[in-house]
Amino acid sequence: MERRIDVGVLGATGMVGQQFVLQLANHPWFRLIWLGASERSAGQRYGDAAPWRLPTPPPREVAEMRVEAAQPGTAPELVFSAMDASVAGEIEQAFARSGHVVVSNSRNHRLDADVPLLIPEVNGDHIGLIAKQRALRRWPGAIVTNPNCSTVFLAMALAPLRVFGLQSVIVTTLQALSGAGYPGVAALDAVANVIPFIDGEEAKMETETKKILGALAADHIEPHPVAVSAQTTRVPVINGHTESIAVSLEARPSSDDVREALLRFSGPPQHHGLPTAPLQPIVYLPEQNRPQPRLDVDRDHGMTVSIGRLRTCPVLGYKFIALGHNTVRGAAGAAVLNAELLVAEGVLAVPVER
Ligand code: NAP
Repeated sequence: MERRIDVGVLGATGMVGQQFVLQLANHPWFRLIWLGASERSAGQRYGDAAPWRLPTPPPREVAEMRVEAAQPGTAPELVFSAMDASVAGEIEQAFARSGHVVVSNSRNHRLDADVPLLIPEVNGDHIGLIAKQRALRRWPGAIVTNPNCSTVFLAMALAPLRVFGLQSVIVTTLQALSGAGYPGVAALDAVANVIPFIDGEEAKMETETKKILGALAADHIEPHPVAVSAQTTRVPVINGHTESIAVSLEARPSSDDVREALLRFSGPPQHHGLPTAPLQPIVYLPEQNRPQPRLDVDRDHGMTVSIGRLRTCPVLGYKFIALGHNTVRGAAGAAVLNAELLVAEGVLAVPVER
């Protein structure tokens, strides 16, 4: 693509917002020209507005940009959103009403019937809801969302197994501290400990997964009938959510069939060759002690889900371990991939003149 599309980030000063800034640095299709946050940060130089929390510094030209108030008008057509959920709902709607395409990472609109909850490899066709959304809400813009971080990895692991007749799933997560944002969990709670509760997380996994795996109907998504039972825990890992998953499959495939289905899995991002797409969305690791967050979380720039330890389960049929990068594939990288799909599928136009 010769001409890049101007983009902005709402909530640019937060943990996920900073990850967006890195994901968009040197992006071949997108050019970051606008940063929005709360009134507390508006007017400040981005480099001064909030302490930088990631190991790679922001590009110098981005650090010099002024933070804007989160109001539509001055922002480009395409904006990524990483705002606090307490404010994201209203502000994202105001942007869509003013003609912006909001690619959001926040939870507020994920379960709205006319809003795509996208993982491009799994349900790229759900962008068909955008036309319905525009007609229903009478707005020229759009809202597109990505799932909760732990739901992304579960849905990606389950998607290739749909062909075997997914019946029920039990998942237990071991989630990284970075998933709680900054400052997140108190050090005295987190160090050498496991916290068996993450507010709202289990309900998100159980409901979002059914929408993501569901089928596009005329004006809504018909949820997949799979029954999902989730337990979520916080563990002293910096990046990477690990998930212990057991599944019941109606067709009773062999373990080779299951492994093959996971390995062969790909979708529109791979077919279009989208810039942020991993070569293989799922990598199967044959070693007995993998995947591990420390060794496997950054595979393919954090966009690949690593799976291992596939074996029979005496209760449900099969069980395995999955791992994904929560702030990349589970947040900013997921949203950037969604926006790339919107461009590839013609929902977002490439500028013809600059
Ligand atoms: P965070 O670090 O607390 O950042 C929140 C951002 O929202 C900041 O940029 C903040 O700007 C902005 N904000 C707050 N009030 C605002 C207002 N009134 N108007 C405009 N902007 C406002 O949170 P986070 O961890 O990055 O999470 C951001 C979103 O992503 C949340 O909805 C979260 O649930 C979701 N999420 C997070 C993760 C993760 O791994 N952390 C994963 C998936 C999804 P100021 O700096 O100016 O206050």
